[in-house]
Amino acid sequence: MIVLQHNLQKTVTVIGGGVAGMSAACALAEAGFRVRLVEQRGYLGGRASSYLHPGVGEVIDNCQHVLFGCCTNLLGFYRRVGVAELIHWTREMTMIEPGGRRSRLGPFELGPLRLPAPLHSAPSFLNAKAFALADKMSLARAMRAMMKPEALIDTRESLGAWLRRHKQTEGALNRFWRLVIGSALNAEIDAISVPYAVKVIRELFLNSAQAGSMGMSTVPLSELYAGVPRVLAERGGSVLLNTHVEGAAWNEDSAQWLICTRTGELVSDLVILALPFEATQKLLPRLPAEEGSEKLARQIERHEHWPICSVHLWFDREITELEHAVLLDREIHWMYNQSKLQTGRGGHYIELVVSATRSFAALPREAAIQQALRELAEFFPRVKEAKLEKVALVKEMHATFGVPPGIDSARPTVLSSWPNLFLAGDWVQTGWPSTMESAARSGHLAAEALGLSAENPLRCFETDLKPRGMMRWISF
Ligand SMILES: Cc1cc2nc3c(=O)[nH]c(=O)nc-3n(C[C@H](O)[C@H](O)[C@H](O)COP(=O)(O)OP(=O)(O)OC[C@H]3O[C@@H](n4cnc5c(N)ncnc54)[C@H](O)[C@@H]3O)c2cc1C
Repeated sequence: MIVLQHNLQKTVTVIGGGVAGMSAACALAEAGFRVRLVEQRGYLGGRASSYLHPGVGEVIDNCQHVLFGCCTNLLGFYRRVGVAELIHWTREMTMIEPGGRRSRLGPFELGPLRLPAPLHSAPSFLNAKAFALADKMSLARAMRAMMKPEALIDTRESLGAWLRRHKQTEGALNRFWRLVIGSALNAEIDAISVPYAVKVIRELFLNSAQAGSMGMSTVPLSELYAGVPRVLAERGGSVLLNTHVEGAAWNEDSAQWLICTRTGELVSDLVILALPFEATQKLLPRLPAEEGSEKLARQIERHEHWPICSVHLWFDREITELEHAVLLDREIHWMYNQSKLQTGRGGHYIELVVSATRSFAALPREAAIQQALRELAEFFPRVKEAKLEKVALVKEMHATFGVPPGIDSARPTVLSSWPNLFLAGDWVQTGWPSTMESAARSGHLAAEALGLSAENPLRCFETDLKPRGMMRWISF
């Protein structure tokens, strides 16, 4: 109790109500800090949120967001706000070719019989009709090479160059590397640094069936964050929505920050800036001049965005019994059957996701929707008879940051050159690509660094899942 009183004297302002800011804020509140979470929009969630789309009159996610069993920090955040059980888990992935032929990938399970990692999914992979024998052999060769430590060390080579060096077939390139890995990292293979691809391969396909299991929210994304204001309020904190931060000044005498927002000023002992890189860049000229800020500005300049588009379709009838699928050889990559995935969703609502494709993102609305519908009918012929009742196209041009070779030196740590100010956001140094897990990791790392500097250490960072089976000896 005495410790709590001590902490309550320290106020923390977390700027940015995305996954990074919310993770940091809730962990700090739980540790006894009085936390104010400041968000410019009228709702929490940032790039992983849902809202009422005026065109269709439905609450939709800005895009389907998937997580995996290896996302330990995101799951830690979900547990902290009491929503971990709202995630639906699956270990199966259905790949569909134009024309409708299906291949199912997933761990081998026959009663109690399981295969040890990394062989757990080998039988389904060997059976997959989507890959010719030569594709399977080339993929197996590449995966074996990715288990070696060298694959994690060379950050100068692009994945594209590495795959060419490892003689990947066209089938393996198009149907696995460009599609599955390209969309997991949301970039073309020539713009991906090898260690990031290795990380995805190890976590999703090799380390364990648990690490690779895929999770999807059963409620619109913003509903996952309903517990955040409660967690903060329990420790005297609050959430300030519709509050755009314009700058901040450090008061040496009081050792406090004065934060300027469009609606007034806030005073705080400690600050976490949990913003995307471009919003951090905009704030830099309005922060005190510090030696390190120029370096940060140069680091930010090296970052680049990649778009993700989603097409939300409501049909008058069911077009597929599948919950989700990977669609091969076309611009549309992923199908999510939201009427099946989200609890209480009526109707026949299908969401299509197109990632890492700047050409699709550049299409005018009507052309993009027509192309998506045409392609969808190649996988699910019932689309041709179904009546399209309504449709929404969401283009997120600044969806994720790229992870090209050399990007790690442009990712700052959570420590900044300003006193009592820490950085968070998916783009800071977490070792993860632009994902909710990277955001949650950054939030937990920033919270721990802040706790240390405020002489109130806290533990909120969740460690990685341990590799299982033979991967215990192969992974490092
Ligand atoms: C279309 C799309 C699909 C994606 N798919 C996936 C997926 O399947 N799986 C996955 O793991 N990740 C996915 N991502 C990536 C994931 O959404 C992000 O990596 C993550 O949400 C980033 O969180 P963040 O808190 O770092 O940043 P943000 O979510 O951008 O949060 C920053 C917050 O700061 C606020 N802000 C900005 N400036 C100010 C200011 N001056 N004052 C106050 N507030 C401010 C913003 O409004 C925002 O709410 C996807 C992203 C998009 C856009």
